[in-house]
Amino acid sequence: MLLWVSDIPLELAPLKATARNVAGKLTILDSRYLENSIMITGKRITRSLASATNEVASRAGKNSKRNKPVASKNQDSMKVDHERIQKAVREILIAVGEDPDREGLLETPARVARMYAEIFSGLHKDPRVHLKRVFTENYDEIVLVRDIEFHSMCEHHLLPFSGKAHVGYLPNGKVVGLSKLARVVDEVARRPQVQERMTETIANMVEQELGARGVVVLIESSHSCMSMRGIRKAGASCTTSAMRGVFRENLSSRAEILGLILNQNR
Ligand code: ZN
Repeated sequence: MLLWVSDIPLELAPLKATARNVAGKLTILDSRYLENSIMITGKRITRSLASATNEVASRAGKNSKRNKPVASKNQDSMKVDHERIQKAVREILIAVGEDPDREGLLETPARVARMYAEIFSGLHKDPRVHLKRVFTENYDEIVLVRDIEFHSMCEHHLLPFSGKAHVGYLPNGKVVGLSKLARVVDEVARRPQVQERMTETIANMVEQELGARGVVVLIESSHSCMSMRGIRKAGASCTTSAMRGVFRENLSSRAEILGLILNQNR
C-alpha cells in the first residue's frame, strides 16, 4: 500500500494531524520526508512517526529557500553517492583533455551527479509495487496500452536510447490501473539497460504479478550509440518484443495483438 501526501503545510500541527489520521487506517512501514511532503508506504515500521515528524521539521528549515515540489527526485538523490560521481566526472574531463576548472565546466560534475540520480532512479525502486493493486474483473479481452514514451540509458555506452513501449495482456480475472503499466515501463527504463532485457523484464513482471493468460511487450526505440558514434546511422530504429502465454503459443492471438499494436502505429 502506498500513500502519497504532498504539499503539507510546513507547520507541524497539521502534519501531525494528517499523520495520525493516516496511522489510524494503515500500517506504516517506512516514512521518508521530502521537503514539503511525507511519503508513507506500508510494510514494516522502520521509524516512529515522531522521529519522522521531527525530521520533516528540520529539513523544512534547511530547505526553506527552495520549495519546489521535487519530492521523488530528492528521495532518489539520497541513495546516490553524488560526491563520487562528481570526482569521476572531473577525472573524465581531465582525461579527455579539458580543463575542469574553466568557468563553463565548474558546475558540470555536480550537475551530472544530480542528473544520474534522476535517470538511474529506477535502480532504487521495485516496479512490481505498481502491479500489486489489482481489481477483480470479468473482462477476458485484450488490454493494451500503446505508445508509452520512455527514456533509458544504454549500459554499454552510457548514452540514451528513447522510444515507445506497448504493453498488452490478456487478464485472468485481475486487471490493473492502466497508468500503472506506464509506471512500470518508466522505472524499468531508469536503469543502465539494454533494450532486450528491458522488454523481457516488463513482460515477466506483468505475467507474474497479474497472473495474466498472455502478455506482450513491444518496444521501438532509437539509440544514440548508433547515431552519434560507431556506425553513425541516424534514424535506424530497433524493435524488440517479448510474448508470454497465449501470445507465445497461439498464432492467431499473437497476430491479433501485433495487429492492434503495429497497424495503428503506422
Ligand atoms: Zn550502446
